Amino acid sequence: MKEKSNLNGEIFDFYRKLDRRIFLDDEYKQYADVDQALPIGYEQTISQPSLVLEMTIQLQLNKKCKVLEIGTGSGYQTALLAQFAQEVYTIERIEDLSRKAQERLTRLGYQNIKFKIGDGSEGWPEFAPYNRIIVTAGAGRIPQELIEQLAVDGRMVLPVGEPGLQELVLVEKDERGNIKREPLGEVRFVPLVGKYSY
Ligand code: SAM
Repeated sequence: MKEKSNLNGEIFDFYRKLDRRIFLDDEYKQYADVDQALPIGYEQTISQPSLVLEMTIQLQLNKKCKVLEIGTGSGYQTALLAQFAQEVYTIERIEDLSRKAQERLTRLGYQNIKFKIGDGSEGWPEFAPYNRIIVTAGAGRIPQELIEQLAVDGRMVLPVGEPGLQELVLVEKDERGNIKREPLGEVRFVPLVGKYSY
């Protein structure tokens, strides 16, 4: 699927209108407009809005895309994905976070999201391949299983590196299955738990 996204304007408009308070617990709603990661409980965070936008744009989504997201968190990033893709498969290891995200996204009317509670570091092989993959927690290295589950002409963005500081990496798979990696800049994410932890 080599369709390029021309949705950047629409993504930006949606991002500006999407109320981040919906995804925050009461005590943090007052900080919703600050461009920073904020606590969502269990030592996890809702990502910095500008980074959520950047990662979404890097994916070059279109309405035919099947997307895998590792790290549902609050569901904020999931909303952007579901708005511009055909289907989103999202995995979160912390049950309470996943349940809350499911409630929020269902209330917002999304019907194209499949939720899974569990370890997503090895992907979700049952529904592979995915046209797009996004990981929203920092991995020590790129999970081989995710490369395998990426469709041809697919794009994946993920933070890779040390605890506290990672490189955001864009991985592209061409029609021959060759992999290209491109560094996109430094980021700070909570760790990806499991096989690909630091
Ligand atoms: N994008 C999310 C948002 O907008 O709220 C923020 C995600 S938060 C930075 C990272 C999430 O990844 C956490 O909720 C954490 O529990 C989850 N996580 C970490 N390791 C995981 C794994 N192996 N499988 C699934 N989820 C994982």
